[in-house]
Amino acid sequence: MISIVSKPDTHEKLEILSSDAQYDLACACGSTKDEHRRRGKDGKWIYPVTLPNGGTSTLFKTLVSNVCVNDCKYCPLRAEKDVRRCTLSVEETAKVFLDYLNRRKVFGLFLSSGILGTPDATMDRLNAIAKILRSKYSYRGYIHLKIIPGSSDAAIEQAISLATAVSLNIETPGAKRLAKVSSRKDYIRDIIEPIKLISRLTSRGSKYSGVKQTTQFIVGAAGESDAEIVKYMGGLYDRLNMHRVYFSAYQQNLGDGSMSPKKSGAERSADIFTREHRLYQVDFLLRKYGFKDSDIIFDDNGKLSLADDPKQVWAKRHPEMFPININKASKCSLLKIPGLGLVTVKRILECRRTAKIRRIEDIGKVGVRLEKASRYIDF
Ligand code: SF4
Repeated sequence: MISIVSKPDTHEKLEILSSDAQYDLACACGSTKDEHRRRGKDGKWIYPVTLPNGGTSTLFKTLVSNVCVNDCKYCPLRAEKDVRRCTLSVEETAKVFLDYLNRRKVFGLFLSSGILGTPDATMDRLNAIAKILRSKYSYRGYIHLKIIPGSSDAAIEQAISLATAVSLNIETPGAKRLAKVSSRKDYIRDIIEPIKLISRLTSRGSKYSGVKQTTQFIVGAAGESDAEIVKYMGGLYDRLNMHRVYFSAYQQNLGDGSMSPKKSGAERSADIFTREHRLYQVDFLLRKYGFKDSDIIFDDNGKLSLADDPKQVWAKRHPEMFPININKASKCSLLKIPGLGLVTVKRILECRRTAKIRRIEDIGKVGVRLEKASRYIDF
């Protein structure tokens, strides 16, 4: 029997390719619980993002190809999967992006891909798209390029020379964990060494110092603990100049034609999304609140509490630190108080410059967060 499969046009390809791109979060996408998985109204390949100034905009985000020779256990596109495969050409990707850009539907481009042939052949394709946008169409705006694991140093450097931001997903904390989910990727050669190379090439004072590097862990696919992830996260920020670390909860049925576990309501899937959320909270504590990875508290199995946020768990473990006097405490100490975020701490510092703070209401309207904070402060 001869089966006739129609050749998809550009928009059909984008339907297919952008659907799976939503699970790659290592870009400027928001990091609140579900914001980063939401897709735009104007097209499924458009994703909302949070800008550095706190505003929001939209990215044109797609895979260039969903063909892949690899076998990552958590991925719906791994070679053995029976999915409809297609690939965008360099010119059609550039043109469709520019069409959306010119109609002011998007502010930038995020490109990723399955491994089409070899890592370098795939990286070259992504680079070629960025290159014609930069040179032929004089596009100077935001381009995020996914670095394909296993790419050569030369291909990586070319990507950095063309992009605003790059990312290579670290996936797991350590080689042993990666071996559980992929037989083809070599943790040191394909992931860690390239991340180090990007870090060197984009370090302060270097030629590409303006280019940001981000990465992503897949959470729950390799039996890893939160403690392992947080230890690696600390190293990425402290030693490798990482701009942001993202987390993507492993969704067991993804790509099997079933609903995401979240929608199916299974208990385990609710836990995995809460776990992902807790890791984002830890990420904020490390980047913005002066915590070190060694400050984060886990249970005996290396897990973060699902019931309490990590700052509250830390406060419960350190009763000697409280109450904190909010008229005298340093900014660093104020940031340790559960319920107080960056904005409220800023407000406290401003308020106490002019007058003594005498009651919690002097800081702002008392809601759940200030109510929580009131248990840890005095005046
Ligand atoms: S290399 Fe990427 S696209 Fe290919 S199977 Fe692994 S995660 Fe999926």
